[in-house]
Amino acid sequence: MNLVLLGPPGAGKGTLAGLLVEQHDLLHISTGDLLREEMKNGSELGLEAKSYVEKGELVPDLLVTQLLAKKVKTSSPDKGYMLDGFPRTKAQAESLDEILNEIQRPLDLAVYMDATMEVIISRITGRRVAPKSGKVYHIVNRPPKQEGICDVSGEELIQRPDDNEETVRRRMDVYLKNTLPIVEYYESKGILVKVDGDKDSEKLLPELNDIFNEQAKLN
Ligand code: ADP
Repeated sequence: MNLVLLGPPGAGKGTLAGLLVEQHDLLHISTGDLLREEMKNGSELGLEAKSYVEKGELVPDLLVTQLLAKKVKTSSPDKGYMLDGFPRTKAQAESLDEILNEIQRPLDLAVYMDATMEVIISRITGRRVAPKSGKVYHIVNRPPKQEGICDVSGEELIQRPDDNEETVRRRMDVYLKNTLPIVEYYESKGILVKVDGDKDSEKLLPELNDIFNEQAKLN
């Protein structure tokens, strides 16, 4: 099964993806994580992407699509792909169809996590991440066992530089203008399911499992 997770920044895509991966053995690909990795390594692509990410703007389609295509084509997971943070524009959605058709693994589901502004702001401002392990915490909703330290790797947690209020506002504008329209794209293809992103990811998990089981019957 191949799926994409859609929704505004702070809707909980990354957290839900982490839980789903544990249960369903899907390959989780986050373009945000891929870009952060490139930036950390100081690659040419990373350097080019940095100025966009820091401002909360979208990295140009060509750049991010190439990165995604490389990752998809160099992996061939048994159970399927779960994409998080891609596509974010209609052009990316169309490119994704082409990439997946080429490897004969078409998209089965687009899960749209909608969330209210209040929840989004609280999630993003309280978010802390472990740069190496990639684990995501929240100071109130999902605190680590020891304050400021990752449970898995023991490394110090940080706040993502683009998780400040000004950049979040810009990311939200960008989301409404560019990403929200692709909800219609998937709706017209009949593969969209909407879930309540205000709910905690743990609570959404059984709902997602039901949706997966339904889909599995169709496949
Ligand atoms: P969030 O979902 O919380 O906004 P991400 O980690 O998915 O966080 O993305 C962080 C930043 O990386 C975005 O603000 C954008 O600059 C860049 N980015 C990630 N995915 C894409 C994409 N598919 N297209 C363009 N830019 C992207």
